[in-house]
Amino acid sequence: MTIVTATTNTPRVWAGCESCYAAGRLVGVWIDAVDAADLTAAQIHAGSGVDWSTEGCEEFVCMDNDGLPVSGEPSLAEAARWGEIYEEVGDIQWPALCAWVRSGSYIAVRSTDYPSVSDFEEAYAGCWDSFREYAESLADDIGLLVGMPDYLQGYFDWESWTRDLAFDHVIEPDGHGGKFIFRSL
Ligand SMILES: [Zn+2]
Repeated sequence: MTIVTATTNTPRVWAGCESCYAAGRLVGVWIDAVDAADLTAAQIHAGSGVDWSTEGCEEFVCMDNDGLPVSGEPSLAEAARWGEIYEEVGDIQWPALCAWVRSGSYIAVRSTDYPSVSDFEEAYAGCWDSFREYAESLADDIGLLVGMPDYLQGYFDWESWTRDLAFDHVIEPDGHGGKFIFRSL
């Protein structure tokens, strides 16, 4: 296993030992989510002074995480699957994908709760300062007012049009004052 230097958004998990936890010992390690499934008992207990081979340590879960769009205590295999999704979608798009999942209005891969990356890529319309900014840019792209005489364009009801448009979208805060915007597929 290589020690990966964390890039900006790499999801990480704290993989801990359940048996030790039950015995009042907090034993575990931080690791990139993608590597979680390969963790061994020895790696989890490294430096803890616990002899895992005689303590009956065999159940490990993610007791904490940094950058996963799920709560609770995912298994190491689940964390690793998220790590693969992170690698598939890429570091830059990862926060947007997490927002899509947290919105609850995302498309999952059949019979799982994991998001479909191809559907995400189709749905994701970018990060914008406001939905109105997105709506005006879209109006430009589709030539919404093309053919309408200039002197009438000032009467166009942007508020109403933007409001209707929002019904076909999922809008999530990006945590920095902007909005992730997703088309409803
Ligand atoms: Zn243990």
